[in-house]
Amino acid sequence: MFENVGSKVKALAMAVCVLGIIGSIIGAIIIWASGLRGAFLRGLLTLALGCFGSWLGTLVTYAIGQAAESAETNEGRIKTLQDKIDQLQQSLKNSGGNAAGNTPAAPPIAPRTGGRSDLHAAVSKNEKWWTCQKCGHTNKSSQLYCEECGTYK
Ligand SMILES: [Zn+2]
Repeated sequence: MFENVGSKVKALAMAVCVLGIIGSIIGAIIIWASGLRGAFLRGLLTLALGCFGSWLGTLVTYAIGQAAESAETNEGRIKTLQDKIDQLQQSLKNSGGNAAGNTPAAPPIAPRTGGRSDLHAAVSKNEKWWTCQKCGHTNKSSQLYCEECGTYK
């Protein structure tokens, strides 16, 4: 609804200018037609002031339109800038964020994949056993599922 307000205000300014000039011309003609004393000068003055007034009004309105338009452009620029900042922050995160030195290094998090290498490591460190609740089979602690019946530890 409020898109391109700037250009709309500008168009309005132009319309007001044209109407103002037409109005002052009509006013001047009416004064000239009245045939009163000094009508010519008064008509001329009306024409001049009318044109000047509408031009001035248009200038102000046009300036407002221009400002609104540039504000809209700035909004777009700010959005682009924010996107760039986000990208920069993302790339900093990806590089570890330690380059600046003000971000404490996060402790390495062991991947909880439960892969074969993890199982072997558990076995070599401390070999413990667990008894299956379903079938009573004794399994290695490294095994998550019962060797015998497949029940979860
Ligand atoms: Zn079992």
